[in-house]
Amino acid sequence: MTTPVYQNFINGDFLKNQSGETFAVKNPATDEVIYHVEVADSFVQNAAIESAKQGFAVWSAMAPIERSRILLKAVALLRERNDLLAKIEVLDTGKPWQEAECVDVQTGADVIEYFAGLAPAQVGQQQMVGEDFYYTRKEPLGICAGIGAWNYPLQIACWKSGPALAAGNALIFKPSEETPLGAIKLAEIFTEAGVPAGVFNVVQGAAEVGQWLTHSPDIEKVSFTGEVGTGKKVVASAAGTLKDVTMELGGKSPLLVFEDADISQAVSAAMLGNFYTQGEICTNCTRIYVHKSVYQQFIDELKTRTEQNIVAGDPLDPSVNFGALISKNHHNLVMGYIEKGISEGATLLTGGKALRPESAPNGYFVAPTVFTDCTDDMTIVKEEIFGPVMSVLVFEDEDDVIRRANDTHLGLAAGVFTKDIKRAHRVIHQMQAGICWINSYGNSPAEMPVGGYKQSGIGRENGIETLDHYTQTKSIYVGMTDIESPF
Ligand code: NDP
Repeated sequence: MTTPVYQNFINGDFLKNQSGETFAVKNPATDEVIYHVEVADSFVQNAAIESAKQGFAVWSAMAPIERSRILLKAVALLRERNDLLAKIEVLDTGKPWQEAECVDVQTGADVIEYFAGLAPAQVGQQQMVGEDFYYTRKEPLGICAGIGAWNYPLQIACWKSGPALAAGNALIFKPSEETPLGAIKLAEIFTEAGVPAGVFNVVQGAAEVGQWLTHSPDIEKVSFTGEVGTGKKVVASAAGTLKDVTMELGGKSPLLVFEDADISQAVSAAMLGNFYTQGEICTNCTRIYVHKSVYQQFIDELKTRTEQNIVAGDPLDPSVNFGALISKNHHNLVMGYIEKGISEGATLLTGGKALRPESAPNGYFVAPTVFTDCTDDMTIVKEEIFGPVMSVLVFEDEDDVIRRANDTHLGLAAGVFTKDIKRAHRVIHQMQAGICWINSYGNSPAEMPVGGYKQSGIGRENGIETLDHYTQTKSIYVGMTDIESPF
């Protein structure tokens, strides 16, 4: 059986490349090639820039309320096609249908809807300066680039295109080579909704295509989601043309469980924050610090629930709640970290091995893994693993655990479980992290700005402030009196 070949999406339509170069995409749950995609060669790249220039001219001239109306049509189409799009995400990423069906498309649609609503609400300022005055205009940046990771491919494309397009920019989006189809489907939906040709383009390929975007002098901004190391390369490259950057990078986030916490709730948060999307979530709380007095209770419940409630298998089966990792390489990387955890002396509470579920025997599954007796210097406690591997540590003193939790170059997220309202806020205010939860973990509504402290990122996505990251302020001084000139 031949598999489909997808082309790049440029100027409102598919565009064939000239090099003939393609790459294969595999279903991580079966290890089978499911389709091929054409690489964006220089012919496609030039066409992307030209079409984005034309798209920008049309789109930025439209009244914001008109852009809003079109984007809201796209939102309706996204919701209408939820199941079709969710299935694409399951086949591309290996995540369970149970999640994709209610999260991936909907959280993407929510963000476009949110920014569509804000588009007409953007206003400038006006101020008198004597008899003269000035006013400001919020103008779009021009052509922006989005570069996405593979864990939430469609959601990431929506989170970048929502504010970019609402503010009147054109976007050239490069999805991860592992998960390229969701962005193509989004491009089709935008076109069907009435987004003018060239406003949202999708270019396909690996790092080289990303590098071209970060170098291009025609692109004003890069919004990137991916690893810290790649993010540094992107910032360095974007500096060549002084592009604006938004960086959504990795994390190694702490969750603090105090002695007065609702332990079952804290275990739920720890499991969600380590095993949802089989552990491939940037904000995961992979360092769980538990107060000594409730440590045993916490790990007993954690072990029981992890061993009883996690169902790994064919991700399309609605009863499965734990899927396959993105690739064989990533599977090997995660297994390598587990071996390191064992060799460095952590206690394996549960998991620690590859899985071969009967319904998906060739998938890249790793069992949900919990290490206890962890210490701060262990590799598994220090480095982002991006898989289902949780490290549990003990603490006794509040100030000390805050210091330990902050002792990292990353600062994406943090959480605290306690019933003491004063302690909850006191502790969370001291966390060096951009996304924090109290007695909760992982929720990220469109209204809430998200982004990292320290090396976990630059700028924010979602929330009102993100529109500012996709606009520039023009100040216009208006002379109402005669100019006084010494010349
Ligand atoms: P990578 O950094 O490997 O890749 C991200 C994207 O960048 C991909 O599209 C990749 O292309 C592309 N790319 C690779 N090299 C370059 C380069 N030199 N210049 C420009 N683009 C490049 O990340 P992953 O895809 O492996 O995603 C996992 C990482 O993403 C984790 O660290 C995770 O924490 C982080 N992440 C952060 C989120 C946040 O909001 N903070 C959310 C989700 C994930 P290709 O893959 O096709 O080679």
